[in-house]
Amino acid sequence: MAGSTPDEIRSACPYCGTGCGVLLRPDGQGGLAVRGDPEHPANRGRLCSKGLALGETLGLEGRLLAPQVNGKETDWDSALDLVAARFRQTVEQHGPDSVGFYLSGQMLTEDYYVANKLMKGFLGSANIDTNSRLCMASTVAGHKRAFGTDTVPGTYEDLEKADLIVLVGSNLAWCHPVLHQRILAAREARGTKLVVIDPRRTASCDQADMHLKLRAGSDVALFNRLLAALHEGGALDAEYLRHVNGLGGALDAAYAADARETGLSDSEITAFCDLWMHTEKVVTIFSQGVNQSTSGADKVNAILNCHLAAGRIGKPGCGPFSVTGQPNAMGGREVGGLANMLACHMDLDNSRHRDAVQAFWDAPAMPDRAGLKAVDLFCAAGDGRLKALWIIHTNPAVTMPEADAVSAAIKACDFTVVSDITAATDTARLADVLLPAAAWAEKDGTVTNSDRTISRQRAALPPPGEARADWDILAGAGRRMGWGAAFDYQSPAQVFREHAALSGLAGGFGLDFDISGLSSLSDAGYDGLAPVRWPVNRDRQGGRFFADGRFFHPDGKARMLAVRHRPPAAAPDRQYPFRLNTGRIRDQWHTMTRTGMAPRLSGHLAEPFADIHPEDARRLGVQPADLLQLSSPHGQVILRARITADVQPGDLFVPIHWTGETAPSARIDTLVAAAVDPVSGQPESKAAVVAAERWQPAWYGFAVSCSPMTPQAEYWAAARTGSGYRAELAGLAPLVDLEAVARGLFGLPDVGVQVMTDRRKGIARLALFQDGRVMAALFTAPEPIAVSRDYLAGLPGSCTAEVLTGVPAAGRPDPGPVVCACFGVGANTILQAIESGGLLSVDEVGAALHAGTNCGSCRPDIADLLARRPFRQAAE
Ligand code: SF4
Repeated sequence: MAGSTPDEIRSACPYCGTGCGVLLRPDGQGGLAVRGDPEHPANRGRLCSKGLALGETLGLEGRLLAPQVNGKETDWDSALDLVAARFRQTVEQHGPDSVGFYLSGQMLTEDYYVANKLMKGFLGSANIDTNSRLCMASTVAGHKRAFGTDTVPGTYEDLEKADLIVLVGSNLAWCHPVLHQRILAAREARGTKLVVIDPRRTASCDQADMHLKLRAGSDVALFNRLLAALHEGGALDAEYLRHVNGLGGALDAAYAADARETGLSDSEITAFCDLWMHTEKVVTIFSQGVNQSTSGADKVNAILNCHLAAGRIGKPGCGPFSVTGQPNAMGGREVGGLANMLACHMDLDNSRHRDAVQAFWDAPAMPDRAGLKAVDLFCAAGDGRLKALWIIHTNPAVTMPEADAVSAAIKACDFTVVSDITAATDTARLADVLLPAAAWAEKDGTVTNSDRTISRQRAALPPPGEARADWDILAGAGRRMGWGAAFDYQSPAQVFREHAALSGLAGGFGLDFDISGLSSLSDAGYDGLAPVRWPVNRDRQGGRFFADGRFFHPDGKARMLAVRHRPPAAAPDRQYPFRLNTGRIRDQWHTMTRTGMAPRLSGHLAEPFADIHPEDARRLGVQPADLLQLSSPHGQVILRARITADVQPGDLFVPIHWTGETAPSARIDTLVAAAVDPVSGQPESKAAVVAAERWQPAWYGFAVSCSPMTPQAEYWAAARTGSGYRAELAGLAPLVDLEAVARGLFGLPDVGVQVMTDRRKGIARLALFQDGRVMAALFTAPEPIAVSRDYLAGLPGSCTAEVLTGVPAAGRPDPGPVVCACFGVGANTILQAIESGGLLSVDEVGAALHAGTNCGSCRPDIADLLARRPFRQAAE
């Protein structure tokens, strides 16, 4: 096939919704060489740091290799017999709504399809929800209200044809780096204007023409003002509005809006409205900052209102564009893998749709109302209404709001099954039955990215041990429950063909999702399927929707909604004065079960942190590298303070990635209230209220080791390095016996010990050696540890005596924390090159060191170094 060598396998990156194509070359020893697929339409060969590091995440360490029941290994037959019996008995005794599935946007479409069919058609409940509820549910609701279906109108090519891109609640530079690079390349070529709307300064602001730091949750007020401005400026498209209902009500709401709710100045708002109004080709990209809100669906509709009213939709370079967080959030939406959907964009509350799907599946039972959405699902598990729960490829004990309560609910549920690639997650530890699932590189199926392009994910490695594909596990359970014919699948191709054929029914009802043109693919055709954008039916393949003004409401028209600003559910007060924003960092993915295995990805930000404004830090007496304790009515966390004006006074930003496995005191969702959007059920993950104070331990520590550590301190955060592990530590009880602490931490009994102490300053340092090699080292002090962390992180396994100084001897390189993860270039290396080479621009740094020349997401950091803004390592 073009662009690949014969030994390469085409597949798709398993991280963000950009959906980049990858080429995988097995090395014959369980590893893979990974590069971007030059033929894939999403990325044309590019990959970001996470995609490039995929080959480093394949190790079998921690893999779940056999089914387990109550902690004991068993065989598949026994495990699936038990799962099937417990689910069927529970339904028989307590009714269909006493069982539930909680799925993940990581699952392939074929996996999702079988799960949805089993729950809705056979177990007879709609209690099947997914972590996409935390990610995209508000967009789904907004699309359905405006268009009649959950349709993403545009394509990635529109991003390159636009003259103005507006990013709303989206740090595209870090969360969808390859899309961001496509936009920057277009900007270079055609001068595309870029506006970022975000309470926080992010890496996406680096190249923006305008950054509107609006108040959290005030997007509706801003877009209502824009709608009114379009009306006042004569920019409404009367011709296109013939296809749209609801203009009058939407305008009334827009004129009633108070733009001061945004906290922006009149001149900022006017400049934005003028730019939008006078630029014909506008794409508005939105993501979690819009969706994760108690008014998320209204925010989506406020954006859609403007595009509909101005007729800027369905045309090249125009349209609202939701970018999905997960690799297959779109596929999950297509199969109907949410509690309020049926299948193939058909509706649970439409009896014609229900009857058609029931007949197609030859299903014994179909629910006629929505099931429990994620937050309600776990409430039901906690209060006993839900008695059997199956969680697949996701970690709700960490990622759901009020995570401690969710953890308790899972524990309280009578029967919990977890399918995952590892038993080492906060959720897997609570399961009665653990089922070993195939991991990304072992799975075969399809995924759909943010612009409706379906790509094949192809297995490049055999599943280890007893691990199996999710569709196969679910079908095995379905057969054992007594529905042999309905779940007699032999391959993912067979599942795909059935799904494609079912979508023909949706097409028959005049709906958007129709891939029936792929329903007769042979196995070979499925194997070789090239990326294809839906719809794919007799009449049409791919392209944009809505150019013709035909929508999917019964009257064929779109709807503008009268939406009004509603503030977040909780307002800061004296007890909880800070607004908490949560999000992703550049080089990690979700709860780090994969990216946490790649040392270079951990090298960028190795520890959880809280960004706090300098004024707030001063008021709280917080110094750089201090620890902060955040509290809410639901929980407490401890994090490293990063003092930065990137956040506004009164706001905090914290990353979402750390878990009980990597930093137990930094499980952020323990703080977040389970307040949800009343329409979409999506939790408000970006506007909780918390208290913050400096956390003063008796001692701080930093440790490196060849092997995993077992920290006992009140605060710790561990990360993988190229030579082993590193950990930050802090404890409340005074340290009296350093060697005892080291023994507990490292568990290395028969090794040589070097100790250095300064009793006056309370500093103690210890290094362990075996056969002349450094095995581990521990540095403690009553203040945050000041050592060269990246130098020390490289020492385990090496033969050197220069450990206890904590810094490299003269002449030994200390690259500093990773800035460019793609090429592994550290901050000190860049600073030295800038100084010695007289480098003046990010491009010159790229030419000298390659840094910033691949995915580009480190270019803002390089610009900071060039501007001699000190690059702060968390604890230095
Ligand atoms: S942008 Fe990065 S994480 Fe997202 S799909 Fe592409 S390579 Fe993967």
